[in-house]
Amino acid sequence: MYQFSPQSIEFQASLTAFMEQHIYPNESTYAEQLHAADNRFDYLPIMDALKARARAAGLWNLFVAPDHAEFCDHDGLSNFDYAPLAEIMGRVLWSPEVFNCNAPDTGNMEVLMKYGTEAQRQQWLTPLLNGDIRSSYAMTEPQVASSDATNIELSIRREGDQWVLNGRKWFITGAMYERCKIFIVMGKSDPDNANRHLQQTQVLVPKDTPGVELVRPLTTLGYDDAPIRHSSTRFLNNHRNTRAMNTDSQAKPRRLVFARPVVSAPAGSSGR
Ligand SMILES: Cc1cc2nc3c(=O)[nH]c(=O)nc-3n(C[C@H](O)[C@H](O)[C@H](O)COP(=O)(O)OP(=O)(O)OC[C@H]3O[C@@H](n4cnc5c(N)ncnc54)[C@H](O)[C@@H]3O)c2cc1C
Repeated sequence: MYQFSPQSIEFQASLTAFMEQHIYPNESTYAEQLHAADNRFDYLPIMDALKARARAAGLWNLFVAPDHAEFCDHDGLSNFDYAPLAEIMGRVLWSPEVFNCNAPDTGNMEVLMKYGTEAQRQQWLTPLLNGDIRSSYAMTEPQVASSDATNIELSIRREGDQWVLNGRKWFITGAMYERCKIFIVMGKSDPDNANRHLQQTQVLVPKDTPGVELVRPLTTLGYDDAPIRHSSTRFLNNHRNTRAMNTDSQAKPRRLVFARPVVSAPAGSSGR
């Protein structure tokens, strides 16, 4: 039978101890600070205090795989070795962020590790790895069944040295968060390609790009889950001022199709 690696077993023990010493006793503090916050999408002081402790304890960026171990302070963990750690962190909804292991940043960081240029890594990956900023992943659209990436309709057009995006997304985790600075956006850059699996591209869009509009926060199955909160977001730009970076270093866009968790959209929800 497969055994967890010694590194995983060690992390399981130290993570469990950290949860008992620092996370569970602070659940009420977190709730109180969130309740009292002027801006429910800003960071909470308890979060930053716990992040500093976790980093000092070496419990940081645990999601990084062995192939990308140069981006973390451990040897890298396979999915199998990371799974029990995710399970331990997941016992408190907000705790993965304490260890810089929160979705969607983990997946977004992996995309930047694999496909980012050096400049893109410096600008976005380094602050993400340090936990200074956060990111969102924007694929799901209100008007199509978005569990199938071939249905995605947001258009990505190249005009000169710029990428022009038009479309709407929703259920974008973390988009409302003040510290969220960058979106990875999936759309279609080659909608007429005979192979419908080669029509898609993902681009990096800084959140402050003109034309990016956070339409409104959404609830999840009727619950408000600020500050994580999912957003309905519009990418609207016919004026050529959307400057988005391709996630690949090649001039020709590299196309990726991501699998998303399949869940039903809330009944009766509208397109906004
Ligand atoms: C808490 C939460 C966080 C989320 N975070 C993000 C995020 O950060 N970024 C993002 O882009 N999205 C996010 N989403 C959205 C999520 O990824 C989508 O809801 C999911 O991919 C399903 O897409 P959909 O809602 O369009 O449902 P649909 O694709 O319409 O699917 C609904 C149901 O129909 C089924 N179905 C669909 N097509 C077919 C078919 N052809 N044949 C048979 N059955 C089919 C599906 O299996 C499913 O059961 C989030 C959702 C939730 C609830």
